[in-house]
Amino acid sequence: MSPELVTIPARRGKAARVGAGQRIRVVNTHGTQVVDAWAFNARDLTEWMSMEASRAWFMKLAAAVGDTFVTNRRRPILTLVEDTSGCAHDTLMAPCDVQRYGLLGVEGHHDNCQDNLHAALAALGLAIPATPPSLNLFMNIPWTPDGRLAWGEPVSPPGSYAVLHAEMDLVIAFSACPQDILPINGRLGRTTEAHFTIDVPASRSGPKGN
Ligand SMILES: [Zn+2]
Repeated sequence: MSPELVTIPARRGKAARVGAGQRIRVVNTHGTQVVDAWAFNARDLTEWMSMEASRAWFMKLAAAVGDTFVTNRRRPILTLVEDTSGCAHDTLMAPCDVQRYGLLGVEGHHDNCQDNLHAALAALGLAIPATPPSLNLFMNIPWTPDGRLAWGEPVSPPGSYAVLHAEMDLVIAFSACPQDILPINGRLGRTTEAHFTIDVPASRSGPKGN
């Protein structure tokens, strides 16, 4: 039986509990959608996946297949084990928030990844006191040799995916980024849904024997 396909609704968030050893397949269903991702130790939500500690761990600006993200306590939490996206998933940019859209000229409310994170956790009955930096899946932020960054357009084909292996019991949270002003979700500013599955560990997926 294939695992349940979970929808990350357009412009919204979704969180789930994941056991150590399970794999999370994040699918860029329409190919143009950035998905912000966070991971938290299931037993202590103040231990979270840290972009700055992870870069110091794998010594790159972005993870490649085989690289492991670590927490703010320097412990492995997620490993990128498969990736068909062709994208160097961004680790540098802060998740969007209502202040960010204010700087972009939006007056009043705009959907944002920070609110989506907290709403997704609240749906599981969870709360955290801060917004950690996000792993920005499918977000194309190219860099130059002198360290300049740009808001790139998406490069991931529709249906491409990244697979993350859980190194501890954790809570994963995603936001289908509602950024429709910068071109990170494509020049048309079209925001879409994305999907994920959580694979059952091999030891529990086979037919019940004996
Ligand atoms: Zn966002």
